Amino acid sequence: QRKPIVAGNWKMNGSLELVSEICGEVEKHKNVNLDVIIFPPALLLKDVVSKGILAGTQTISEFDSGAFTGEIHAQLAHELGAKYTLVGHSERRSLFSESNQQVADKFAKAQEFGLVPILCVGETEQQRDAGKTEEIVAQQIKAVIDKLGVAALNNSVIAYEPVWAIGTGKTATPEQAQAVHKFIRDMLSSYDEHVAQTLRILYGGSVNEKNSESLFAQADIDGGLIGGASLQKDAFISICKSAL
Ligand code: 13P
Repeated sequence: QRKPIVAGNWKMNGSLELVSEICGEVEKHKNVNLDVIIFPPALLLKDVVSKGILAGTQTISEFDSGAFTGEIHAQLAHELGAKYTLVGHSERRSLFSESNQQVADKFAKAQEFGLVPILCVGETEQQRDAGKTEEIVAQQIKAVIDKLGVAALNNSVIAYEPVWAIGTGKTATPEQAQAVHKFIRDMLSSYDEHVAQTLRILYGGSVNEKNSESLFAQADIDGGLIGGASLQKDAFISICKSAL
């Protein structure tokens, strides 16, 4: 039995006002059978934590403290109350040139300082059209396994986010998403059956209150990573309810 997660990735959006609005509502609908996690911009982390909501950073540095102007330190994020961090979100990979190796380093640094990494993976439209979805996703996950061993995945989450579905309104169909989630679980099971059966795998990419239920109903989909719709109180709450 895997406990579902609904995570809201605010990206570079939001304000103190939005923290009050969304977190108040999330708090009101808290349910022991669902983990709701908010990933606000790092500057709002402490405000979300203070509302009693599970929170995380959208990325973290792979380095220890030092001369890295502008970076987010995993240890400090943890000290401020973050429990999770995203690593390898496709916007970080494409806009900030993060490699699989660097993402694996971030994954390691997150765990070193007590944060649970949510490893984001997914193919571009071009890669899907070329029939390379499984190869790309496997490489992204293997970079972490090669560095840390499969046991490191015990204390993590994977989010499958096809790049072509992010912010485009073009959601993967439940069948398309399930196929990749199953591929990931089968791949993990070739390393370690316990990890394969217990690891939570989220779907992300244009999830909204209309399509979430059918996505979350799939056998290997354990919840969602929500972008745009996580900024809208009513939509986000109804997505949360559909994961129960
Ligand atoms: P959208 O839900 O806006 O497509 O964003 C998905 C995403 O990137 C979440 O991390």
